[in-house]
Amino acid sequence: MKYKVGVIAGDGIGPEVVAEAKKVLNRIGEVFGHEFCYEEILMGGCSIDATGVPLTEEAIAAAKVSDAVLMGSIGGDAKTSPWYQLPPELRPEAGLLKLRKSLKLFANLRPAYLYKELKSACPLREDIANAGFDMMIMRELTGGLYFGERKTEELDGVMTAVDTLVYNENEIYRIAKRGFDIAMKRKKKVTSVDKANVLDSSRLWRKVVEKVAKDYPEVACEHMLVDNCAMQLVRNPAQFDVILTENMFGDILSDEASMITGSIGMLPSASLNDTKFGLYEPSGGSAPDIAGKGIANPIATILSAAMMLRYSFDLDKEAEVVEAAVKKVLTDGYRTEDIAPQIVCSNNGIEIVGTAKMGDLVCENIR
Ligand code: NAD
Repeated sequence: MKYKVGVIAGDGIGPEVVAEAKKVLNRIGEVFGHEFCYEEILMGGCSIDATGVPLTEEAIAAAKVSDAVLMGSIGGDAKTSPWYQLPPELRPEAGLLKLRKSLKLFANLRPAYLYKELKSACPLREDIANAGFDMMIMRELTGGLYFGERKTEELDGVMTAVDTLVYNENEIYRIAKRGFDIAMKRKKKVTSVDKANVLDSSRLWRKVVEKVAKDYPEVACEHMLVDNCAMQLVRNPAQFDVILTENMFGDILSDEASMITGSIGMLPSASLNDTKFGLYEPSGGSAPDIAGKGIANPIATILSAAMMLRYSFDLDKEAEVVEAAVKKVLTDGYRTEDIAPQIVCSNNGIEIVGTAKMGDLVCENIR
């Protein structure tokens, strides 16, 4: 099959890590007989430098005609980069917000997986880390508190701020359906997280999730209050498969989940709309502190490409092969600096490699 992939290399380490993910996709193409064609799309600081704006209409059009978009990261050092002297709507991040909106991306997926080889980076108690975890946080991306009406005004001489949390049943339905679809490709369990003991929006959330669950009899569905979920993530993360939740709860819980893996350079993400289209990117940023040094960890971007294979192209087998190749490279002792143990010596079997070498090693393990 032939797939058209929009590529937003972006800023900082973006172009370095995206190059490795493309290498891996090309290797998958060779082994499985697929063809990936790439359309380079400008977004972020590099687009500001070239066009004066972080995202042009042509760039949006190019993304829309792609089957999926693979992205590195955008942005620079807020203290030193001239991009941050611009008004907020012209800064690099504004490009990403505009793209997400234009592509109607409403579902954000962030897996949190603990590789046994990287257990020592996990900040949890040893017995909990030993049990491992493999979960997917599914966060609604376009509604809730972040998009509700807000205002700050003086009422009776006191400054008062209001934010509103709105969800309608259609918004809840489409994300819930996506969550159950994803669970069908995993361990078939959905934990829907809300605050139904207090919030009306959560009570509606729960009702709609219950309704969707009836269409997926193979998937176990449970409800959990968000405060309990925050605790359970550090107490017993192994219990989770898909965590399905609204925008702000998902924002907070997905950061908590990424922290317990101990390594931001390993974490992919995807944002999906109601077609097969998705935007796939590492969870971390453009890491200006290490850009251009050839030491960035490309694994999060490579695993984002694996998510693209699975969720946009339905190439589950190919995605598994990429994930297994990443595991094998770690088992063989190869590490980029960010995931290396503090002490590296010849007898602990660890070798530190750069960005390009890590990409090559993953490719070598795709057979
Ligand atoms: P960051 O994630 O870029 O960096 C935080 C730390 O993690 C740094 O020490 C960095 O070196 C390290 N790191 C991140 N990714 C790594 C990788 N793949 N390999 C090795 N080390 C890695 O976060 P920040 O410093 O807060 O942000 C830098 C810029 O990135 C800002 O302009 C921010 O707005 C932008 N950003 C962009 C995105 C995106 O493109 N979606 C997301 C987050 C931040």
